[in-house]
Amino acid sequence: MLESGLNRIRSFDSQGLFLYYRAPMSEQAQDLYLPRAVEPRKLATAQAAFERSIRASDLPRLAELSLSIDKVDVKLQFDRNDQGRPELQGSIAACVQLECQRCLESMSLNIERDFLLGIVWDEAQANALPKHIEPWIVGEDETDLIEIVEEEILLNIPVVARHDEDCLNPDLLSVGEIDEEISEPKENPFSVLAGLKGKH
Ligand SMILES: [Zn+2]
Repeated sequence: MLESGLNRIRSFDSQGLFLYYRAPMSEQAQDLYLPRAVEPRKLATAQAAFERSIRASDLPRLAELSLSIDKVDVKLQFDRNDQGRPELQGSIAACVQLECQRCLESMSLNIERDFLLGIVWDEAQANALPKHIEPWIVGEDETDLIEIVEEEILLNIPVVARHDEDCLNPDLLSVGEIDEEISEPKENPFSVLAGLKGKH
């Protein structure tokens, strides 16, 4: 996955065809998935766009926090802003199953997240970014695109996952809805009669 992604990017780059990185239908299945190793500044210059999925097996930190990862789809647009600073604009649509910390059953979490990353060289540049732009510090070398997307997803995972509804011990919680005669039983006159009959 890693190598094929790299080769693909290099070949696109060398052909100067790097305008729109969306695979035609006839491409291999691997092109449905987001490449891992990229050079973000080159992608920004080329205004590269991706509309891809990420495999659960490529998201180890998310997998550790989840019972299962149902889907992770991303749309990414690399670009340069008016000052030439490279940026990555993205949106994530994901669904994972988490363990509810109240009832310990699974619960679905749908994640819809938009983000804007400013691609910078160092901490100083990161601090100089406008508040609404998150820094993505990237050096000269190829960097991990899936890892940065995974970090964005992790921001949406609650520290303590719980069902929205009252899920703990439904038998106890449903008592309030049951007829009062059952929750506060009185002696049934017929059963008293039956008891008397039995004694004769
Ligand atoms: Zn629950």
